[in-house]
Amino acid sequence: MSASLRPVSSDDTYAEWLEVGDRCFVRRYEYLDVSCSLVLGEVGALVVDTRASLEQGRELAEQVRELTTLPVSAVVNTHVHFDHLFGNGAFAGVPVIAHESVPVELPAHGARIQKAYETELDDPDREAALATVVVPPDVTFSSVWAVDLGDRHVELAYLGRGHTAGDIVVRVPDADVVCAGDLVEESAHPSYGSDCYPLEWASTLESVSELLGPTTVIVPGHGRAVDKEFVLQQRLDVVDVAEQIREFAAAGASVDDAVRRGSWPYPRDDLRDAVTRGFAHALPR
Ligand SMILES: [Zn+2]
Repeated sequence: MSASLRPVSSDDTYAEWLEVGDRCFVRRYEYLDVSCSLVLGEVGALVVDTRASLEQGRELAEQVRELTTLPVSAVVNTHVHFDHLFGNGAFAGVPVIAHESVPVELPAHGARIQKAYETELDDPDREAALATVVVPPDVTFSSVWAVDLGDRHVELAYLGRGHTAGDIVVRVPDADVVCAGDLVEESAHPSYGSDCYPLEWASTLESVSELLGPTTVIVPGHGRAVDKEFVLQQRLDVVDVAEQIREFAAAGASVDDAVRRGSWPYPRDDLRDAVTRGFAHALPR
C-alpha cells in the first residue's frame, strides 16, 4: 500500500457503530474484517451486507435493534460472497436486494464455501457457517435500483464486473456516502478470487469514481472508510495487474510463468486466480 492510500477514519474499533455520514452507520467485525452498513430514513432502515453465517446475521440484527426502532425496509447484498450474505436469513420477511447475477451464482458459491468449511476445523465460524441455510436475494436488478426510506432515497448501481460478476455500490446521495463492497478494500489488497474479472475491474472502478466527490466517504467491504483519492490510487494498481496479464497473455506465457515473472503490486501468490481468469478472458476460446 502506498503512502497516499489514506483511510478517512482512524477508527479501528470492532465493537460499535460508527456514523460516517448523516444517519449512515458502519460496523466492522473482527471475523474476516467484514463491514456492514446501516442507513436510517424517516420510515425505515436499510442494512448493507449480513456477515458470514445465520448466527452472525442474528447478532447483526440485534445490533441494528440497539441503534434504531425503525423497521428494516430492505437488506442489500453488495455481491455474492458468503461473508456478505450468509446472514440474510436473520432478516426474515425483509426484501433482500442484489444484482441479478447473485441468485444465479449463489448456489454454487454457497456449496463451495460450505464444503471448504468442512475441513476448516479450527475456524470459529465453522459450525455456524455449516448450519446456515443460505437465503438468496429475492429482489434483483440489472443496472439501477432505489430504496425509499421516506425522507431519503438510497441508490443502488451496478457499474460493471470486477471483484465478481455482480458487484454493486450503495449510494446515499444526501449524505455523500458510498458503500463499495469488495470493489474497494482497505485492510487488504483487492481480492482476486476464482470468480473475478481482472481485466474489467479498473473500468468499473472508473465508473464508481464518477460518483465520488472530494468529500465522499467510501465504505469498503473490508477495512476503514476511505476517500476518492484512495479509490483512484487502488484503481491504478488494478490497472497494473490487468496490463501485465494482457501482456503475458499476448506473449503466450503460462499461468505459472506469469505469476512468477510479473512485477505485481500485490503478493504474487494472491494473483494466480487473477492471471488464470484474465488469460481466459483475454484469449477466449
Ligand atoms: Zn468478496
